[in-house]
Amino acid sequence: MSVIYDRVALIGLGLIAGSMALAMREVGLAREIVGHARSSETRATALEIGLVDRVCETAAEAVRDADLVVLAVPVGAMAAVAAEIAPHLKPGATVTDVGSVKQAVVTAVAPHLPEGVHFIPGHPLAGTEHSGPRSGFASLFKNRWWLFTPEEHADSDAVARIETLVQGFGAKTERMDAAHHDLVLAVTSHTPHLIAYTMVGVADHLKRVTESEVVQYSAAGFRDFTRIAASDPTMWRDVFLQNKEAVLDILGRFTEELFVLQRAIRMGDGDHLFDYFTRTRAIRRGIIEAGQDTAAPDFGRNQRSAEKARI
Ligand code: NAP
Repeated sequence: MSVIYDRVALIGLGLIAGSMALAMREVGLAREIVGHARSSETRATALEIGLVDRVCETAAEAVRDADLVVLAVPVGAMAAVAAEIAPHLKPGATVTDVGSVKQAVVTAVAPHLPEGVHFIPGHPLAGTEHSGPRSGFASLFKNRWWLFTPEEHADSDAVARIETLVQGFGAKTERMDAAHHDLVLAVTSHTPHLIAYTMVGVADHLKRVTESEVVQYSAAGFRDFTRIAASDPTMWRDVFLQNKEAVLDILGRFTEELFVLQRAIRMGDGDHLFDYFTRTRAIRRGIIEAGQDTAAPDFGRNQRSAEKARI
């Protein structure tokens, strides 16, 4: 594939930006990658492991003359970064973000950006529970969805160009409305994370975790919860605060369903439980058939670790 953007500026150099940098390098999609992160430690690491060609001490400096600017910081930090970079953006540049919430990011970023700069919000549906510059790997986005939520009047060439970039990472792209995105993600990602955090919290309250019983006898279900509950606290705090309405809506529905199942257990209504679990099993099958997960007992994690180890 050929170069799609001459100079790319990555603001934030963690899991997502690091994986983007490695994917861009692997396929040669950018001529130069410049980076900025808050701490000098992260900047030094990113340079040392070759994620970027150079790092800048400020975001303002990093975006100078960049054709593409990627905001890859926690959702709660987007507004401040946008305000800082706005006066330094090149006319005609594209600004995108990778935030897990879209409406709040649009509200935080769009008002700062000058005329003539294309803002195309995006969200890769790919991640791990790890964070920081060393956690990235080039294949993270392969066969994963990358959702874009451009405004109706967004420049169609600019949208097509950023889509071509992420397709070069192996991602599949789709466009949707920001509010719809936030509701879908509340169901598929945000609320499940909250439930995992809660379940691990419950086990912790039982205090058997520290007595190692829960760890020692941990079954697959609980182990999966602990993996999800190990996700970055800053990122997830921001996701819940910034996608408040949709998450509260889905949590309300979740609680109602939980009460129905609770009652079925209390009343010994095995038919209800059996029918319910039969329906949910079909959803799992659908996800595997859509290629969004594997039927392997380890959910394909060993394969992913092996891919990462090769980098
Ligand atoms: P991460 O690994 O924790 O990296 C975050 C990066 O942002 C770090 O380099 C951090 O710098 C930097 N940063 C934080 N605040 C900053 C600020 N005010 N100014 C400049 N840099 C700042 O996070 P990530 O997982 O890549 O997540 C980045 C974004 O992607 C988030 O918006 C998240 O919602 C979204 N996302 C995450 C996932 C996932 O599964 N992780 C999936 C899809 C989308 P320091 O290291 O110096 O603190």
